[in-house]
Amino acid sequence: MKEQEIVQNRSERNCVDRENMIREHVNSIVEDDFHGFLHRNCEDTEQLHEQEMSIRFASYPENEQFARMVVTAFLMDLNPTIDEMADIKTAVSEAVTNSIIHGYEGCVGQVCLTCRKRGGDITVTVCDQGRGIADVEKAREPFFTTKPEAERSGMGFSFMEAFMDEVHITSTEGRGTCVEMKKQLHLQEKE
Ligand code: ATP
Ligand code: MG
Repeated sequence: MKEQEIVQNRSERNCVDRENMIREHVNSIVEDDFHGFLHRNCEDTEQLHEQEMSIRFASYPENEQFARMVVTAFLMDLNPTIDEMADIKTAVSEAVTNSIIHGYEGCVGQVCLTCRKRGGDITVTVCDQGRGIADVEKAREPFFTTKPEAERSGMGFSFMEAFMDEVHITSTEGRGTCVEMKKQLHLQEKE
């Protein structure tokens, strides 16, 4: 066999080997997924249906409006009352605005918004990797603000607490902040 044929044969074999490897790999993933799917379906019959969505966006001020719209769309099928929806949108807006103006003050970073719904239980989480909060307890106090010169009123966390059932804040200076908020909706029948 000529040298060129040997090389060609070898590279064809390599190709076939690779294809087989990839096919086996894909089959195993599909199989795992299928079993996972069956397993999940079994779990679903025992538990309430749960759905989660996450988005990440840049900390531009206009994305505060975008975050409100995404949450509205995600919760729409639960048929919340106008008041419930307004409460959640306000809380999301306050948390996202905080990430934008305090967390990433003067620079642009990523804000992560996650929403989970399980029956009428809603959990919304807003996280940034910004400057973090030195004293979380102090930051929660009504009228406390580190930006009085920017005419902030220091009421953001108070609004979140007033409009949601639970607000949990975790923050580390220099690493970022995560605000988890929960609310129970009073599910109503669709007309
Ligand atoms: P307002 O929300 O009324 O405009 P504010 O943003 O100062 O004013 P809060 O939202 O209650 O008031 O926040 C209190 C303080 O907590 C802020 O002034 C800021 O120092 C700090 N803070 C809140 N969120 C963050 C965050 N994501 N990253 C860093 N610091 C934060
Ligand atoms: Mg605020």
